[in-house]
Amino acid sequence: MKAETLIIRNAKVVEPHQAEVSDVLIEDGRIAAVGDFSNVGGAREIDASGKVMFPGLVDMHVHFNDPGRADWEGMETGSAALAAGGGTVFADMPLNSHPPVLDRETFIAKRVRGEAASCVDFALWGGLTPDSLPHIDGMADEGAIAFKAFLCPSGIDEFRAADARVLREGMKRIAARGLMVGVHAEDPEVIEAWQKIHPAPRPGTMRDWFASRPAAAEKKAIGRVCEIAGETGCRVHIVHVSSPEGMDAVMAARAMGVDVTMETCPHYLLLDEDAGARIGIAAKCAPPLRPRAAVEKLWMALADGRIDTIGSDHSPAPPEMKSGEDVFAAWGGIAGCQHGFPLMVAPALERMDWSRLAACCAQAPARRFGLGSKGAIAPGMDADFVLLEPGGDLIHAASLRQRHPVSPYLGMTPRWRVVTTFSRGIPVGAGSRGRFLTPHTET
Ligand SMILES: [Zn+2]
Repeated sequence: MKAETLIIRNAKVVEPHQAEVSDVLIEDGRIAAVGDFSNVGGAREIDASGKVMFPGLVDMHVHFNDPGRADWEGMETGSAALAAGGGTVFADMPLNSHPPVLDRETFIAKRVRGEAASCVDFALWGGLTPDSLPHIDGMADEGAIAFKAFLCPSGIDEFRAADARVLREGMKRIAARGLMVGVHAEDPEVIEAWQKIHPAPRPGTMRDWFASRPAAAEKKAIGRVCEIAGETGCRVHIVHVSSPEGMDAVMAARAMGVDVTMETCPHYLLLDEDAGARIGIAAKCAPPLRPRAAVEKLWMALADGRIDTIGSDHSPAPPEMKSGEDVFAAWGGIAGCQHGFPLMVAPALERMDWSRLAACCAQAPARRFGLGSKGAIAPGMDADFVLLEPGGDLIHAASLRQRHPVSPYLGMTPRWRVVTTFSRGIPVGAGSRGRFLTPHTET
């Protein structure tokens, strides 16, 4: 036995097609085999009886805001919160770091920061904006995992929205590199027209916020993006789909042959408009939380495979930006990468099996973004996994590992607990260091 050999014994092991009690042999940070190793001795062992061994979450949607706005979150605190919630890989969005990642230099600066401060492996998005078009190849050369575009204002002035021309030009260049575009899909014209007819009172409440951003805006934007994706042959991923209308637009494009996938986030599954109205500004996000009937339809689509991936869209801001009398003046973003998954496990298992949950949280995002060694407990894969056990702890401000004690989940108690998170066979916190990941692409 090599010194680096580790055996996880007697866990319920969540593999791509089954979840059964087995042993898992880990060598040099990789899964060597899953089976019965009761006769194998001499290795370091962990008895995981009663626990579930689940692939580490591959969270392709976080905003750690570092460098430049680390006072909002930071690579160190953000990655620690992610790992505490079961995450072993993240992909950081090109905003709200400052300056945003729109060229080679800003990309390299963030990679250096991540290598210095992240406790888990990570990838980086580049931005697709009117300003970044000449720099797409530079960011692709440095290993950008994908490119993010906003159809509506992003909330960050330096990260401008992409119109049809920018999307078309960007998608051509990005498709030529075998990479993908991820889109925040809310149509600004629909929102503006709607708000003219239904002007929101100021100061506004959470209910006013929900009413100000109709699902029709999501549907329209997804239709527009998919049309250009079809035209240019660019792969596209719609981030944080929040409504049945949005899902239907994705499915319609898929039926037309567009290579499009969709993500939703734990908060669209765990919270609805009524919960958001109770919680207040900590639950402000865009697109907004939706009515209960829409939430149930998202769960169904997650269970049956129409929704491909789960991403946290962890997007914190300092407490003074997540409070106040007027919801419209507050920051839109939910800080949830630590508790979204533990809270999701129990309601998910009422609707799908362990392997389906693992597919949308780990395997599907890893595959879609070209992270070949991530996302599954299977021979040859990196030994990125978590041990879960039934039971949970009340979420309170002191239990948050992120920079600021703002979370819509305060006061809730998950029914599953993340016991330990392993990154390449090493418990996170015991000296694990994040490596920069680049996509495997076929052009
Ligand atoms: Zn986001």
